[in-house]
Formats: sequence, structure tokens, C-alpha cells
Amino acid sequence: MEVKQFFKFSILLLARSIGLFRIGRFLTRRGLMIVAWHGVSIHDEHERFCSLFISPESFRKRLCFLAKQYKVIDLDEAVRQHQSGRFHANQVVITFDDGFHNFSKVAVPILNEFGFTATNYIVTNQMNTQRPSLSLLLRDIVLRSPKREVQLALAQTDDGKQFSFPEDRKKLTNVLMKILNETFSDYDSKFEFVKTIAAHLEVDIESLIRNRIWHSMDRAEVTKLSEDGFLMQAHTHNHRNVVEYADTVQFEAETCRKELEKELGKKVVHFCYPTGRWNRQAWEPLQRAGIQSATTTMQGPNFPKTPLLALRRILNGEDRNQLEFEFEMSNIKWLAHIILHPKNLFVPNEKTKGYASEAKIF
Ligand SMILES: [Zn+2]
Repeated sequence: MEVKQFFKFSILLLARSIGLFRIGRFLTRRGLMIVAWHGVSIHDEHERFCSLFISPESFRKRLCFLAKQYKVIDLDEAVRQHQSGRFHANQVVITFDDGFHNFSKVAVPILNEFGFTATNYIVTNQMNTQRPSLSLLLRDIVLRSPKREVQLALAQTDDGKQFSFPEDRKKLTNVLMKILNETFSDYDSKFEFVKTIAAHLEVDIESLIRNRIWHSMDRAEVTKLSEDGFLMQAHTHNHRNVVEYADTVQFEAETCRKELEKELGKKVVHFCYPTGRWNRQAWEPLQRAGIQSATTTMQGPNFPKTPLLALRRILNGEDRNQLEFEFEMSNIKWLAHIILHPKNLFVPNEKTKGYASEAKIF
């Protein structure tokens, strides 16, 4: 452990042992907490995608903590309480983004052990087409490759040398992602390119496809979970963020909502901003699209005066350990921020820049 990390964890341990976390939770007990995950590993995805994934063991520890400290409620109930002007004390909502297959395969059985409900925000185009995410698949292939050196005619280092692993993995990923996005226009030719790279890097792509590591849940899985009481809600049709694709906000949200409603036979009113980027300009088109609540990735508790279209969440993955998770759930950092910036008490800052957490995989 680095010295800086050691000091950080020592201070957090001390803070927890003298009861500071408990005080933070008490002071913000009327603020609704919302936690966000993306995926629970089917195999060892959290080792390569630590901000996006969490291991089943760590996930179980997080839920143990939630079970001791909070009552888990769903988003429908949260909206009802918000509209009534008062949240009950010590409540938490569990959410997942992107509708990955691992939710039904790994996360739900663990949630069921605790009797917890959760919301998953679905990207309907990925649900419908059942095509794996190529950008994640390609990144995974580079990160998994057993090769030590890579000489690719189409992907050269700046000085024309071969890539050496592990130090050049990030560089090679960037070069390949650029080729994937700029050279090919349709999915099938992109997929062929990814397969060629997998063969070159000696990665068994067929097993990644077969195990649906980078697939979304299909319609049957989403419908079954909805029938079991999990909320399947909107994350746009094509995972387009509302800042760069401001013109398409209403279309993306409405298409996603209608597709899900047709499939589930239930109302869909909750939305999650793709990549966490959001601004107030998106509120009107979202409302026109029939959206009632929207979650960001800004940290902190939510109060009745927090706009329903700018709800805060605690984003978690394997990159944060249990102590850091409990620290974030205590809202101590948020309380310090509010003392310095009281105008953010109810409304979080807009987040319009590129988002680190979903992309930060190295
Ligand atoms: Zn997302």
C-alpha cells in the first residue's frame, strides 16, 4: 500500500472508530441515499474494470452494511415520499446502470438473499439487438491478452515500435478504439475488426460472447425481473448523454420509455443520465418524454427540495473498499462541501464534462 493510501485509510479508520461516520449518517438521516453500481462480476471483470464492476464478495459486504443501517425502498416509493414533502429517516435506494446480463445472473440472487429490491436502468437498443458492447469487449481483449509484445501493422506506437505489455495496454486500447470508431461505420464490420484483434492478442472471444460478459439483459430477462418486483427503467435508447446529444434527449428518453412500457406492460418514469453528464436544459425534454425522476452521479443525500430530475447517488465499484464506501455513505465529505458551498444544499452542480468513472477502467 502506498504511503498516501495508508494515511488515508488510517484517518478513515480512526474517523469510523470514534463515531464520526455515525454522526454524519445521523445529521443527514432525512436525506434519501441512492447507491449506483454497474455490474457484479460473472468471473473476474472487476479486476480489469474496477470502477465499473464489483466482485460478488464485496457486493455482499456492501449489502450487509446497508441491511444494518438503512431501510431499502424502491424509486416509486422514493418519489411518493419526495412529493409528500418528507423522507423517512435512514432509507436507501439501490440502482444499477446499463442493464448488463450479470445483473440477472449474479446481482439479483445476492439481492434476493437480503430481500432487497433494486432498479436497473436499461439501454433499450442493446436489450433489443442483443449485441455485446464492442468498446468494452475490445478493452477487455486488450486487458486480458497474455501476450507480452504486440506488433500490429494497423496500430503503431508514435515512434513505430511494438507495443509492450503491460505498460502499453492503455496506449494500444486508445489506438484501437480510434480505429474502431473512425474506420468502420456498421456494427458487423466493427465486430469483425474486434474478432481479428482478439485472434491476434490470443484471447478467446467466443467464451466472452458465450458467457454474455458484455451483453445486456434480453427482453425475457428484463420482463421476468420486472414481474419479480425489480424496476426496469430508462437509460436512453442508445446510451446517448444529454449534453453532447442535447437535440436527441426527448427522442432517446421517450423511445426507451415506450419500448420498456410495451415490453413490461407497466409505467416507466425513472431515468438515469448516461455517463452521469447532465444539465438543466435536459429537464424540459425529459418531462416531455414522460420522465418523473432522473439520477446523476453527484454524491450526497437527497431532500424533498432536491429536484427529482437531479437526484444524487453514491457510485460504487471494486475501486473503492468497504471503508471508503461507508465513508461516502456517511456524507461527511458532502457536509464539508455544503459548509463551503451552501447553495448546493439541495441542487447538485451540473456535470457537463466528460465522465471519468464509467470510462476509468485502467
Ligand atoms: Zn450508462
